[in-house]
Amino acid sequence: MKYISTRGAAPELNFEEAMLTGLARDGGLYVPAQIPQMSADEIAALAGLTYEEVAQRVMRPFIGDAFSDDEFGEIIARAYDQFNHAARAPLVQLDSNHFLLELFHGPTLAFKDFAMQLIGQLFQSALARRGERITIVGATSGDTGSAAIEAFRGLDNVDVFILFPHGRVSEVQRRQMTTPSESNVHALAVDGDFDDCQAALKDMFNDFEFREEVGLAGVNSINWARVLAQVVYYFSSTVSLGAPHRKVSFTVPTGNFGDIFAGYIAKRIGLPIDRLIVATNQNDILHRSLTGQGYRKGQVQPSISPSMDIQVSSNFERALFDAYGRDGDAVTQLMDELQQGGFEISQGAMQYLREQFDSGRASEEETLATIAQTLTSSGELLCPHSAVGVKVANALRDPEVPMITLATAHPAKFPDAVEQASGVRPPLPPAMADMYDRAERVTRIANDLGALKGHIKGHIRA
Ligand SMILES: *Cc1c(COP(=O)(O)O)cnc(C)c1O
Repeated sequence: MKYISTRGAAPELNFEEAMLTGLARDGGLYVPAQIPQMSADEIAALAGLTYEEVAQRVMRPFIGDAFSDDEFGEIIARAYDQFNHAARAPLVQLDSNHFLLELFHGPTLAFKDFAMQLIGQLFQSALARRGERITIVGATSGDTGSAAIEAFRGLDNVDVFILFPHGRVSEVQRRQMTTPSESNVHALAVDGDFDDCQAALKDMFNDFEFREEVGLAGVNSINWARVLAQVVYYFSSTVSLGAPHRKVSFTVPTGNFGDIFAGYIAKRIGLPIDRLIVATNQNDILHRSLTGQGYRKGQVQPSISPSMDIQVSSNFERALFDAYGRDGDAVTQLMDELQQGGFEISQGAMQYLREQFDSGRASEEETLATIAQTLTSSGELLCPHSAVGVKVANALRDPEVPMITLATAHPAKFPDAVEQASGVRPPLPPAMADMYDRAERVTRIANDLGALKGHIKGHIRA
């Protein structure tokens, strides 16, 4: 199994190398050279299996010989044993033909745990075998950082630095990053927004000297292994609603286009998905792009769904790569234009994207109203991100086709917005109840590349 870069000018890598590398050396993102296929019979055979068994069967062909079957099976088992629901990703019904896929039963209460817990185990096995150490630097709008810290804290051969926008993450998100006491964990509050953090991270990856010196590795949603881990729950949920014998649609609250892209990969593998709907908050660059208004950066407008407060969706590059017929030069040129502010998507590429994705947006008021309405009509308390999804799904869904909306975080992660909307303040699960009492450890730092690199170099273990 070979992986190629979306910009066509980086070396081909195997799964393990692509995972440890993160961003390709030409600035692109790694994608499989070919998408392995699953037949209808193979999909039907997933019915009734545990989440871990589905994970093994769906991901195995993408891994190649990087890990043996037994090794990979043990990695998957360890990755999900901290989840507090036997189904890992349970479905609950909201309405006739409308289901919610609860992806918040992992240790940091957001869907990021599905990928990050797996990646933590994969990195640990690979590094131990290679006798190497690495420095993980991640940029987060809130949930990636806490999930990464949870997955890597205390590991011998990994130091973790997480950049988050100062003052723009929820208190629970911040505390999940600042309260772990392990000395290999470093939370950095950057004076800037998420796009600044993400841009600094990209610059670090493009500084090859720094990259070598610290053994830089990335676990942002550009990391292929994360996308792959997220493909699994599209299979487990669709099969439990009757696939491959009937089609199912998905609505996905989207920021960096990672989760929805995993759905697209599931469809490319052969899963009968009818529609894939991108749901954005008021930061709607993706919705604007998918409705033919070009791909242009705006200013981030802070919202009550902060994990989706993004203007540059990194993983969209992977979709563009396919939409432009896997032409790395064309993608390179588009990304250069993006540096200058934006680009028009060609007619052929737009047609491809429209065949794959629908889109909608939810305003702040609509998001709050959806939390209240959904609680009344179904008893389900939604986090604001999930509410963006439910709002868009309700507006666009075909009542004849089962719709699965992804619930990306637990409501207790965003208690202020949820209380404002519904009058109910969701409690943290018992295992986290002491979070507000633990000491915080965080470094406030300027949005300055030199300062960030200096801090990292000064704090990695030998
Ligand atoms: C990260 C995140 C999203 C957006 O997911 P992408 O893969 O970046 O599109 C949505 N909701 C929550 C709660 C998140 O943490």
